[in-house]
Amino acid sequence: MGTCSNCGNKYDATFRVEMRDECYEFDCFECAINMLAPKCSHCQTRIIGHGVQDGYDMYCSAHCARLEGRRELQDRATAFAP
Ligand SMILES: [Zn+2]
Ligand SMILES: [Zn+2]
Repeated sequence: MGTCSNCGNKYDATFRVEMRDECYEFDCFECAINMLAPKCSHCQTRIIGHGVQDGYDMYCSAHCARLEGRRELQDRATAFAP
């Protein structure tokens, strides 16, 4: 029986995530995402995949990075466009 770090639910099938030398316990992936996934610096969407990163700023897509003036950042769609 574990306790979720995000919502406090006591649950018999919690799992642990180690991130930046901290260990967290969660009852579901939604709680892990809510607590640990970074947010896009432009639209505040949770970034579940790789996203695109420039130093400390992360974006859900190159589209959002461009809207913040980061024209050099590319995602696959941009990189492989004709
Ligand atoms: Zn939870
Ligand atoms: Zn975004």
